Amino acid sequence: MSESTRYLLNESDLPRYWYNVLADSPVSLPPVLHPVTKEPVTPDFLSALFPMDLILQEVSTERYIEIPEEVREAYKLYRPTPLIRARRLEKALGTPAHIYYKYEGASPSGSHKSNTALAQAFYNKAAGTKALTTETGAGQWGSALSMACAFFDMELEVYMVKVSYNQKPYRRFLMETFGAKVFASPTNLTQAGRAILAQDPDSPGSLGIAISEAVEVAATSNGTKKYSLGSVLNHVLLHQTVIGEEALKQMDMAGEYPDVVIGCVGGGSNFGGIAYPFLRENLRNGQRTRLLAVEPTAAPSLTRGIYAFDFGDTAQMAPIVKMYTLGHSFIPPSIHAGGLRYHGMAPSICALYDAGLIEAVAVPQRATFEAAVLFARHEGIVPAPESAHAIRAAIDEALLARQQGEKRVILFNLSGHGNFDLTAYDAFNHGRLEDYQLPEEAIQSIRERLPQVPEQIGA
Ligand SMILES: *Cc1c(COP(=O)(O)O)cnc(C)c1O
Repeated sequence: MSESTRYLLNESDLPRYWYNVLADSPVSLPPVLHPVTKEPVTPDFLSALFPMDLILQEVSTERYIEIPEEVREAYKLYRPTPLIRARRLEKALGTPAHIYYKYEGASPSGSHKSNTALAQAFYNKAAGTKALTTETGAGQWGSALSMACAFFDMELEVYMVKVSYNQKPYRRFLMETFGAKVFASPTNLTQAGRAILAQDPDSPGSLGIAISEAVEVAATSNGTKKYSLGSVLNHVLLHQTVIGEEALKQMDMAGEYPDVVIGCVGGGSNFGGIAYPFLRENLRNGQRTRLLAVEPTAAPSLTRGIYAFDFGDTAQMAPIVKMYTLGHSFIPPSIHAGGLRYHGMAPSICALYDAGLIEAVAVPQRATFEAAVLFARHEGIVPAPESAHAIRAAIDEALLARQQGEKRVILFNLSGHGNFDLTAYDAFNHGRLEDYQLPEEAIQSIRERLPQVPEQIGA
């Protein structure tokens, strides 16, 4: 075991392949359905939204997919990212556990989202796309894609959830600096937005609504614009596996192997990114690492949602997928972890969770910020509120190890920094953050609003 604190790889260690968990998953994914016909989608339907290379990755079962040289070159601006042993935090906790974190906040836009943004921008550019549309919650995804579109010389329209637009103005300034156009969603620029505003002029917006707007703009652009999604889809999780592949090498440098790998989950991409390469080692090489997904009690898709076919967006324009869902019309409370406010979850994570290969836990907002502040005071990084969910769970694992008097190796993904989220920290520091539990009635009514899918598919 090594005495180092930071484990740094060389540029030449940058992964050459993304890892596709679907090659090794013992459960296969149910089909993706058309939002109107409720029949399995055709590539034609998807090609209105995505370039063919990404559609092929979406359905691929190849184990390894080569990372294009142009994308690897762009990754080199910030990858490989560091793996850090949280020695000062360990000491503060008085735990025999060893805590490691993979720091994805080291990317220029501040989160793991650049890993897929650069890939998606590259494939779109290669397919001749001139402009992209997308949604963003906290603004991390919008920032990453803005940077990627600047690199690959494409225009970008971002539909930003209104509550975040107001809470996090600096994220908008960053996106505009990279050259993107940013709108507070719901807008009156789309049918989907106008319908929501007619019902509720003060709607705080949601990721589901913002997705509807961005999808509508691309789908009605006569092919001039494509749509890009920052999480949930198979190809997005695929691109994120560079995180786990690097972490495997870095844990090896540290001379240890994790007992548990932890990530926060909004749509599931940073968790899938760090966890899937370790899941491969479980499935193929006899390792027995626990994989723990952490969500907020305010939007608890995995721990309290229903595993069913549901729309990916609020206006029912995006494809229907089988996932743990809180219902496509779910408007989550305005918790400060904007990136975790999605009603559903990546289908691959849901299937693996359903099969018992992944664990999940929900943590409340204030305990999450307590963990974030403790982490900041010992490790010096103010984490993104989303990432703080993973920190909460990592600290809980470390405290349990102390209680049980046993060593435990904990690895978590620090998916981003919180330098643009200081309003949330201000609210916490001054006692203005509240906990939120989703009421039981909200869960009960999910089933009534699910789409009816043909029996042979739903079965
Ligand atoms: C977007 C975001 C998340 C949540 O999205 P996932 O797809 O679940 O990873 C988590 N952390 C940060 C920093 C984010 O920007």
